Amino acid sequence: MKRVLVTGGAGFIGSHLCERLLNEGNEVICLDNFFTGSKQNIVHLLTNPYFEIVRHDVCTPYFAEIDQIYNLACPASPIHYQYNGIKTIKTSVMGTLNMLGLAKRVKATMLQASTSEVYGDPIIHPQVESYWGNVNCIGERSCYDEGKRCAETLCVNYHNQNGVKTKLIRIFNTYGPKMHPDDGRVVSNFIVQALQNKDITVAGDGSQTRSFQYIDDLINAMIKMMNETEDSFWGPVNIGNPGEFTILSLAKKIIEMTGSKSKIIYIPLPSDDPMQRKPDISLAKEKLHWQPEIKLEDGLRKTIAYFEEFLKNSCKIR
Ligand code: NAD
Ligand code: UDP
Repeated sequence: MKRVLVTGGAGFIGSHLCERLLNEGNEVICLDNFFTGSKQNIVHLLTNPYFEIVRHDVCTPYFAEIDQIYNLACPASPIHYQYNGIKTIKTSVMGTLNMLGLAKRVKATMLQASTSEVYGDPIIHPQVESYWGNVNCIGERSCYDEGKRCAETLCVNYHNQNGVKTKLIRIFNTYGPKMHPDDGRVVSNFIVQALQNKDITVAGDGSQTRSFQYIDDLINAMIKMMNETEDSFWGPVNIGNPGEFTILSLAKKIIEMTGSKSKIIYIPLPSDDPMQRKPDISLAKEKLHWQPEIKLEDGLRKTIAYFEEFLKNSCKIR
């Protein structure tokens, strides 16, 4: 049994990860400041004696005797990470620094949740790990993008200088049950709008592309990467689904799958919104023997079912 610390464990990805780690027989400490995470996401785990919640902010040091750290703490949706850009930078930089300090002290392995946003608005397509990216360091998204880039740099330096076992994954757009219904990310936004027959808000002309990965595929990759024993492989490695869709086609697909009466409306494209995104996952295939299994339609069906239930229950509460 390993003792595993999951920072950001009450968030969308973190809560799925805590559940999986417990199911695999680990002891899990879920550390979160509940900025975007919710107790609802993890309440069902509380009866497990090997699960612990710690209300804590990663910007201040934390000490515990642990074997592994999954460092996920950081708001991930543009409206949340832009709400307080300075705090977002602190979370990525000081938070990662604190977790690396802990990993160094207790000799834990740390997996850092990096992001496709390190590529910015990419001019190389699909994106390969060797591409350095195209980020506007003073733009609206920079608090997140540059914070995450610096976190990668910290991991590499702790690894090279202090021998800390750090693993870097670059996560591409991930969706699934337990996404925050109001965090503005495109899949949850469109599904919630469609289920309520509200207008579907397509940004720009909807020709920008994204590649959408279902949560279960990501969790499989995270566990594989953490437990990968080949000594020379520390990442960064792209983890995403290479299926590429325009945002307009996603809106149409969700309207069709929900049988919604919603109309598509066009809203201004946010600044620095990347125009295309698709991971090259050759490295993950080669080193982790991993590739995504879940097709967009299948993942959307599960996510729609989750939000249907969620909206029904929130109506009952009101
Ligand atoms: P999320 O907002 O649902 O989860 C983030 C969690 O971190 C929340 O529970 C939040 O309360 C917590 N948190 C934020 N700041 C904190 C702080 N200072 N101290 C302690 N806890 C803090 O987002 P998510 O989608 O689950 O993303 C998790 C991680 O994965 C993030 O680091 C994000 O950058 C990364 N990521 C996500 C995606 C995606 O598509 N979901 C893509 C790329 C990278
Ligand atoms: N988007 C949209 N309508 C929405 C929310 C998002 O058209 O209601 C667009 C957004 O402008 C971007 C894409 O969908 O082009 C993905 O946005 P998201 O915030 O989910 O992720 P990110 O931009 O970080 O990849």
